[in-house]
Amino acid sequence: MIKILDASSFIHGYNPSVEDGEHYTTYGIIKEVKTKKEVVELAIEYGKLRIREPKTETVEKVKKMSIKTGDTLSKNDMDILALAMDLNGILYTDDYGLQNVAKRLNVKVKCIVSEGIKERFTWKLVCKGCKKMYDIDYFDEVCEICGSPLERKMVKNRYKNKKKRCKK
Ligand SMILES: [Zn+2]
Repeated sequence: MIKILDASSFIHGYNPSVEDGEHYTTYGIIKEVKTKKEVVELAIEYGKLRIREPKTETVEKVKKMSIKTGDTLSKNDMDILALAMDLNGILYTDDYGLQNVAKRLNVKVKCIVSEGIKERFTWKLVCKGCKKMYDIDYFDEVCEICGSPLERKMVKNRYKNKKKRCKK
């Protein structure tokens, strides 16, 4: 099985060294993963993680689709999705936007968080000003208390939330 890993898979505790299958990622993603550097480096050393870059024309396809769906994807997001298309693999990501565009391009997606691998995290909206936390589906883009913009942040899940977060 070919598995394409984006930054959120590593950050959410996926360790290619102990998992089955062939794992691929891009240079951009490796650079993005700061907190799990040792996991990434070991996996590369063991030959359990390989670095590939996508074809330019595939990246273009991804870009066009993301414009169509209205999802804001970073360069790394587009590259990793394009790589999943090039290698005909399953994309491992917890990013909503990426999942959405992948679905439209018929790329199979797996979530790490909903699989319950070790650590559990959840997305929240956090106020840039007073740090008040809101649920990810909060209706407004600004804080109800101080009016500052809300930022998407990953936080440790303190409540045992059984809700599946993977878009299907
Ligand atoms: Zn606030």
